[in-house]
Amino acid sequence: MSKVVIANNQLKFRTRLFKSQSLAQGFGKFLEGNGKFSEIRIAESNRSAGKFYVEFFSSNPETLNRMTDELQKQRIERSREEGKDYKFRYIAGGLWRIHNPKSGMTYNVSLIECECKDWIGRCKPLSLICKHQAWLAEHILQEEDSASV
Ligand SMILES: [Zn+2]
Repeated sequence: MSKVVIANNQLKFRTRLFKSQSLAQGFGKFLEGNGKFSEIRIAESNRSAGKFYVEFFSSNPETLNRMTDELQKQRIERSREEGKDYKFRYIAGGLWRIHNPKSGMTYNVSLIECECKDWIGRCKPLSLICKHQAWLAEHILQEEDSASV
């Protein structure tokens, strides 16, 4: 399983470390031969000298969709775990102020945007919602459910 980072508003994949440069190069060749991967780059780890990883972009829509779904699922799960402890306050115009005691951070959040680093750096370019927005969406739905009973 590769690690995913965002580069130029796209998902960039990064493999685990290979024990040698030639093993990494072998994997790079395999990706090249497959034809669905681009900008394949082999680099030495900053933390573990002598070990190498491979970075690449994928142009396979299925792979990209699967990874995007996975990233969204992680955020929804985190919002359900941490959200129980959130302290929140409605401001106005669909904007809420959410405090997460676990991280000590407070953000202004709406369903359209959030101030957190995750939303700015990853969610926004990929059209995902962050854990705060996921929490907000579920919280608002619950309020409406209980009001209509
Ligand atoms: Zn957020």
